[in-house]
Amino acid sequence: MTFTEQLSLSGTEWRRTTPPNIALCCPFCSDRGETVDTRFRLYINLTSEEAHCFNCQWSAKAGRNGLRRVLKGLGAVGTSVSPEAHVLARQEPLSLPKDFQLLATVRKDPDHKLRTAYRYLVARGVNEEQMVRHEIGVSLVGPASHRVIFPVRCKDRLVAYTGRDFTGTQKPKYYTRGVKESFFGWRECPYPDERTRTLHIAEGVFKAMALERALRYSVAVAALGSSLTLAQARLVCSGYYTDVVMWLDPDGPGIKGGIRSLEMLRRLWPRGGKLWIAGYKGDPLDEVTSAQIRKTFNDMTLAYTTDNCWRVLFCVE
Ligand SMILES: [Zn+2]
Repeated sequence: MTFTEQLSLSGTEWRRTTPPNIALCCPFCSDRGETVDTRFRLYINLTSEEAHCFNCQWSAKAGRNGLRRVLKGLGAVGTSVSPEAHVLARQEPLSLPKDFQLLATVRKDPDHKLRTAYRYLVARGVNEEQMVRHEIGVSLVGPASHRVIFPVRCKDRLVAYTGRDFTGTQKPKYYTRGVKESFFGWRECPYPDERTRTLHIAEGVFKAMALERALRYSVAVAALGSSLTLAQARLVCSGYYTDVVMWLDPDGPGIKGGIRSLEMLRRLWPRGGKLWIAGYKGDPLDEVTSAQIRKTFNDMTLAYTTDNCWRVLFCVE
């Protein structure tokens, strides 16, 4: 994969500057004692691999594996970087796999593979209402073969999808395409009968849907990673929501990513606006009962009923 493909896969937003240069938000700034970069201050020459951050002054000299070091800093898994032949070519709009088929309708389908995919979802707690609402489907051929497909949309435009293996044999378990500029389950505003303006964010699709089932009519979304991308943080801050609850995974990457996300949200939140943020860490959300989720959320709400501009609550159950 090329460098920019790996950036896209890891959900990193980047911008073209003068070819062959691009710019992105520097992943090294905070570790180097600077504020988190949200202004694309890391410039990278894709040909020579020279790189320089105009905020924290991190730099890589020509031919010194700058691209790989940047990917490592971003937490991208890439092992090698292939030449950037098409970087200036316009990217094709993303589409779902050609054989994509909605799963809500296949409970009694004669095709046993479709039924297996359906049963996999049900076993993970997903109900038919959610299959319909989130347009969850399946693909049986091509690169996302034998995966349940979860589309990620932004204002009705497909921006990404992730496919979860349902056979228990494929690695990696998740196959993700597109750019993480939105969330699985994202809505511009809550459901009509929902009074609060609280957005619940989980790492993965099953956790988000567990939240959705437990907190009926709340908007619960999946970031598809342990940290928000800058584009996701912007989306959260630009819309309808006044409260954000980060349901962090209780592991190292979950907590580190959560803190990085909270810092981005705090910086991007409009001046004068109120942001009420709570974090949770406990057993995985898709392994606890709906009642436990509701109790945790009520505890969080009770603990912070004032007009907090910025609060982080780690509630250990
Ligand atoms: Zn920097």
